[in-house]
Amino acid sequence: MSTRRLSLRATLRAFSMQAFAVAALAGLGAQAQAEETINVYSYREPGLIDPILKQFTAETGIKVNVVYSKDGLIERMVAEGRNSPADLLITPESGLLIQAEAAGVTQALKSKVLEDAIDAKLRDPEGHWFALTRRARVVYASKDRVKQDAITYEELADPKWKGKICIRSGQHTYNIALIASMIAHDGEEKAEKWLIGLRDNLARKPAGGDREGVRDVQAGLCDLAIGNTYYMAAMLKNPEQKPWADAVKMLFPNANERGTHVNISGAALAANAPHRDNAVKMLEFMVSSEAQEIYAEANGEYPVIANAKTSELVKSWGELKADSVPLSEIANLRKKASELVDKVRFDAGPSS
Ligand code: FE
Repeated sequence: MSTRRLSLRATLRAFSMQAFAVAALAGLGAQAQAEETINVYSYREPGLIDPILKQFTAETGIKVNVVYSKDGLIERMVAEGRNSPADLLITPESGLLIQAEAAGVTQALKSKVLEDAIDAKLRDPEGHWFALTRRARVVYASKDRVKQDAITYEELADPKWKGKICIRSGQHTYNIALIASMIAHDGEEKAEKWLIGLRDNLARKPAGGDREGVRDVQAGLCDLAIGNTYYMAAMLKNPEQKPWADAVKMLFPNANERGTHVNISGAALAANAPHRDNAVKMLEFMVSSEAQEIYAEANGEYPVIANAKTSELVKSWGELKADSVPLSEIANLRKKASELVDKVRFDAGPSS
């Protein structure tokens, strides 16, 4: 304290009273802000998260510490229990949000800002998780070999596509959500028949990621590949993968009726959040139009709020008509979908 007073006296001698007052206020402000932090656990890659976190710090002065990992963050939060430093969990898809809630590492949040910004179908009814960006699960079709410009998910089971479809593992979270949406619309029995039909139309055993499906369309192994929309943006940016992207057109299934299956990236407030207020601030910042534009642009996704701008590339894909089944209903059907995948031995590939 005494050293500080001494230096104050020295400063007063050097500057006018007014100039000092301004300087002191600015200094104190910076000091107070520097103490404000938030700890984020992110399954999402740094490249997608950094721009928005930097903007948050620039606007609020709240310092963001991030733990990035492709896996194990929920398990880590469980192990840390009440001592977990995590304030906010960010995930690239909805399955992990459901898993986090089931593991008890999230807390319910009531926020008018979030509720006004995010469609009720895209958040947990109790407030345990919220969507931040959207993507559609579409059909990448060979420009050369597929003439039609519209398709339905149901049609993928039509024998006319026999040996022509590529897809990743049926147990992958993206496919589980899609299959859950089929159960939601058509019932379990019809969905099972559909899954068998799709399995028997596969060109190869389910494998790789969404992009490898498009690669295999370009290579002539299949005519259709199932994939998320943002992979088009990713492939176009990658010189090795650009030819894959150039070989296909995107068909938005069921666009002329119930809409295309949409999944999300999102976030959840941690159960023990030591900096709860800052975490809420960050969540609310993430649905501002400014943040939404940065976040959606980073990965070629659709913003979650209605009035944010989509990137030129995403806009060029046309208006997205999204399936209206609430994500919470999809969440409840995930287990059934996963059992169905095993039951029909989807990942073993065609049986006939
Ligand atoms: Fe992905």
